[in-house]
Amino acid sequence: MVNRRNFLKSSAAVVVGGLVANQLITSCTAPAPKKKIGLQLYSLRDAMKEDVKGTLKKVADMGYSTVETAGYNDGLIYGMAPIEFKKNVEGLGMKVTSAHLGQTYSKEKEVEVMEWWKKACDAHAALGVKYMVQPFMPVNDQTTIEDIKMYCDYFNSVGFETAASGGIAFGYHNHSFEFRKIGDQLIYDYMLENTSPNHVFFEMDVYWLQEGGQSPAEYINKYAGRFPVLHIKDEKEIGVSGKMDFKPIFEAAYSKGLKEYYVEVEQYTNNDPFASVKQSFDYLAKAEYVK
Ligand code: MG
Repeated sequence: MVNRRNFLKSSAAVVVGGLVANQLITSCTAPAPKKKIGLQLYSLRDAMKEDVKGTLKKVADMGYSTVETAGYNDGLIYGMAPIEFKKNVEGLGMKVTSAHLGQTYSKEKEVEVMEWWKKACDAHAALGVKYMVQPFMPVNDQTTIEDIKMYCDYFNSVGFETAASGGIAFGYHNHSFEFRKIGDQLIYDYMLENTSPNHVFFEMDVYWLQEGGQSPAEYINKYAGRFPVLHIKDEKEIGVSGKMDFKPIFEAAYSKGLKEYYVEVEQYTNNDPFASVKQSFDYLAKAEYVK
């Protein structure tokens, strides 16, 4: 007679047996775990202007896990309320983890600029990002080291503000002009040494740093901990130019605490941004050195 206790015992045995069988099947047939690859949405800037939701859907379908925005204006993200943009991205199985935005600074407009950041912090706290990144600063032949120091102090203040907004970290993203010298001082090194590690991180664009004549891996090792986030960029699609050796970059970055990276494509071999962004994803998805 099957009483309740025996019935439960035998059911448990079946369930356990089922789990074991499933695990064996899974270990033989499951694909490698999906890599967390991010995209800087500037890569699809024209499409994002025309159709935000449709573009994000295509990005999710390619396999990207995270996105970094480049569409903040007056409290809105690509014209949408931050919470709506966040819901949209999350509904596609992705996360919005970072945002590009910024303001130039002068002593005269300090109050106005910091008010701009306060409003931006509210919007990005609602968006739920971990990082807010300024991707530019004015540098020309007349720029002095005092001008750079002023920007370092400014970035420290902005980082203080973003940290107060739900612990968002503030970063600076380079191009190649930061690798000019003023006197014998390399601008980028001066910035690394004159910003607070507690308030300013550096989102290294590995392509632009290399175009500036430097080695991304050497910088990551030398200034350990300052580069938690990278822009993985090439001249066009990732891996196509042959100029970039991404393996030592990833190896150095992983060993020094890499948290996130975003693919960025600015130029397109066949004038097809979606194809270029997909090709770049596939390159990293296949690369054995990318975890
Ligand atoms: Mg970049």
